[in-house]
Amino acid sequence: MIKKALLIIDMLNDFIRENGKLYIGDGGGKIISPIQKELERFRKEKNPVFYICDCHRPDDKEFNLFPPHCLSGTEGANIIEELKPSKNDFIIHKRRYSGFFQTDLDISLREEGILELELVGVCTNICVLYTAVSARMLNYEVTVLKDAVASFDQGANDFALKQMKDVLGVEIR
Ligand code: ZN
Repeated sequence: MIKKALLIIDMLNDFIRENGKLYIGDGGGKIISPIQKELERFRKEKNPVFYICDCHRPDDKEFNLFPPHCLSGTEGANIIEELKPSKNDFIIHKRRYSGFFQTDLDISLREEGILELELVGVCTNICVLYTAVSARMLNYEVTVLKDAVASFDQGANDFALKQMKDVLGVEIR
């Protein structure tokens, strides 16, 4: 059987909680339960789970574009309570949109013999999209669950799903 990994992207307090530093709106709350279901399924099938987490320095260049968020060591950078990782899960910290950019993600997936990825989380048109781009450039098979991703911008969400399907060959399920 082909080993598959679940990538849970940026389900962090600053994006999902109403009082978060970069709250994306109620779309973030709506995807918690579909993600919980996937999490359960992957754990049952003994397939690995990777949490891809924004983790910024206070002077990060990204803050020229977005308000400061997910500062390293703050509550805002923590994974939301409802999706708590278990001890065998992988936690990958990132400073850029793509979960692959200068992180341990690719080497960790290779060590686990993973060829297929399922992406869930936020934001569809930012970190989900750019992580999908990197994954496809590296020849991973990628599926995105459309009911388990969200963005603050519905138009951009829909564009990103179409772009991933048409241009990257991502399966949108
Ligand atoms: Zn960020």
